[in-house]
Amino acid sequence: MNTSIGIHQFMPDKVWKWKILEHKIAHILSLHDYQEIRLSVLQDYHVIHQGITALMQEDEALTATQAIVNLSQPNGDLSLLTLRPEGTISVLHHTASIIKDRDVHRFYYLGPMFRKEEHEAPSEFHQLGVELLGSDSVMSENEVISLAMKILQGLGLRDARLELNSFGCSSCRPAYVSDMKTYLQKHENVLCEHCFNTLYTNPFADTHCTDSKCTAIIDKGPKIMDYLCPRCKQNFSKVKKVQANLAHQYTVKPSLFKNFAYYNETVFDLVLSSNGGVQVVGGGGRYDYLSQMITGKNIPAVGFLSEYRQHL
Ligand SMILES: [Zn+2]
Ligand SMILES: [Zn+2]
Repeated sequence: MNTSIGIHQFMPDKVWKWKILEHKIAHILSLHDYQEIRLSVLQDYHVIHQGITALMQEDEALTATQAIVNLSQPNGDLSLLTLRPEGTISVLHHTASIIKDRDVHRFYYLGPMFRKEEHEAPSEFHQLGVELLGSDSVMSENEVISLAMKILQGLGLRDARLELNSFGCSSCRPAYVSDMKTYLQKHENVLCEHCFNTLYTNPFADTHCTDSKCTAIIDKGPKIMDYLCPRCKQNFSKVKKVQANLAHQYTVKPSLFKNFAYYNETVFDLVLSSNGGVQVVGGGGRYDYLSQMITGKNIPAVGFLSEYRQHL
């Protein structure tokens, strides 16, 4: 049942479907040594706020923090608790508290998350998050991508495909960002304000703009693939090679953007064909710099998320 404020309750006629889904996912993940973490639905406002502002650029962070659903007392006082908007921040804090040199941890979590879009009531959606922490080897990208494909195939989505891109690393990315900013400034009078501001803040963002003038300019702009350093280039071709060997269908999509600037190197979307179009059912990538910003500990990581917004 959907209530008017976008929260869900599931009655027995729907619960059995959730149980099958959860059981299949848990089975595949446990075969690959991923351990479940059950995060509290209530989170410390300061921890989430600090995490989100650390991992995004200023404007993006403002939008993201406005999307957090905070609890308030009937008299209007805000409490210091917030409804869980995502899981990565808590997983990184947990891992930072237990990790030792060369440890690799494999975790996943599953359950409701809450966010609030501008001018809309809070809404609940269900998210699966899978994270491999402590390895900077390109094989960990391949492990997580392959696992994501295995889960989709295990759920009967046999035509699932991959879209791949690389966001480069801290040594090759700055030249791209700088050239992109110069390019955007040159075309500022043609681009809509939203595209210019969004991309100037984060050149990897998806602006969701459908104005053909904007898309034409963005398409002709600098491409990160032309800026990758030898190491990033080599890692990206290893990802493609392993995925091809596993018979996973993929396309390299230079326009695959993420609205979180924290990803580096491999990023991917999991897509299905639907009604002549494409439906993105999940995605993720490597995020080696995020833990340092949030926990102060350097933990290379790669993960993926899959969200479900309607009820089954
Ligand atoms: Zn690089
Ligand atoms: Zn635009």
